[in-house]
Amino acid sequence: MKIAILSQDASLYSTKRLKEAGEALGHEMRVINYLRCYMNITSHKPAVFYNGQPLESVDVVIPRIAASKTFYGTAVVRQFEVMGVFSANESQAISRSRDKLRCLQLLARDGIGLPVTGFAHATQDIEGLLESVGGAPVVIKLLEGTQGIGVVLAETHQAAKSVIEAFRQLDANILVQEFIKEAAGVDIRCFVIGGKVVAAMKRQGAEGDFRSNLHRGGQASTIKLTPEERSTAIRAAKSMGLRVAGVDMLRSNHGPVVMEVNSSPGLEGIEAASGVDVATKIIEFLEKNAPLENTRDRIQ
Ligand code: ADP
Ligand code: GLU
Repeated sequence: MKIAILSQDASLYSTKRLKEAGEALGHEMRVINYLRCYMNITSHKPAVFYNGQPLESVDVVIPRIAASKTFYGTAVVRQFEVMGVFSANESQAISRSRDKLRCLQLLARDGIGLPVTGFAHATQDIEGLLESVGGAPVVIKLLEGTQGIGVVLAETHQAAKSVIEAFRQLDANILVQEFIKEAAGVDIRCFVIGGKVVAAMKRQGAEGDFRSNLHRGGQASTIKLTPEERSTAIRAAKSMGLRVAGVDMLRSNHGPVVMEVNSSPGLEGIEAASGVDVATKIIEFLEKNAPLENTRDRIQ
């Protein structure tokens, strides 16, 4: 197959690994910087242009769209879909997963375990908001944050009020969440491909930090999932409509709770921690599924 990896940077670990894995399985792999693609959306023959040439006979695209480039990146993926090209994740599922609130609303609708969560925009009713999630301690998150930045633990009612007031000054959208203390700074990342968990790791936050993000100094290691965790990850990916997903969860006293579902999960941490060749698993999934699906009919 001709497979295009939509990535801004061919030297990124995940991009390199996908290219390598595809080539090893005999596919023609190409890294395309989606920000440099342009398209004619009114033509009878929809196309994506790159370096002045239409990208022809691409069979599959693997989107690796940066969070900050979701708008343009998903437009490029959508254009490939209009052309009938199979995408490892559909444009719509990527957009959906990039909106943390929407993500949680869809997961809640499907009965998936979540931390008790409230959402507000610069609310006046701080007391009401705090009460609705069971009071302090709470975790307060900026809706637009990534990599653990904009995630704050407020241990007391007063601290929570101050933080919410500060965010109110910024006119920001915030999530207020029950603090899952018993997770003890550990979160679980499950890598789901085509409705199966192919690899998992746990991340332990740096000493004294309740956040386990690797970017915040967390350490990754292997973990054995419970059947409930496994099925929660699979249901979360399905609920978001993602074929390839990284599902982040915490071990709470009331079972696994999902924090986030990621549509371009990185490969480096998970491959190192689990020892699984995740890149090859993605290519094998595409080999099996791309020829079967008609993406064109699924645009909404
Ligand atoms: P980001 O998307 O910026 O990584 P997350 O929502 O994943 O933000 O939160 C970052 C980290 O903070 C998580 O990996 C987890 O360790 C910790 N965390 C987040 N929410 C909670 C919570 N409700 N209770 C306990 N720990 C949490
Ligand atoms: N087609 C709907 C959308 O606007 C899907 C509903 C959903 O799962 O969000 O994305």
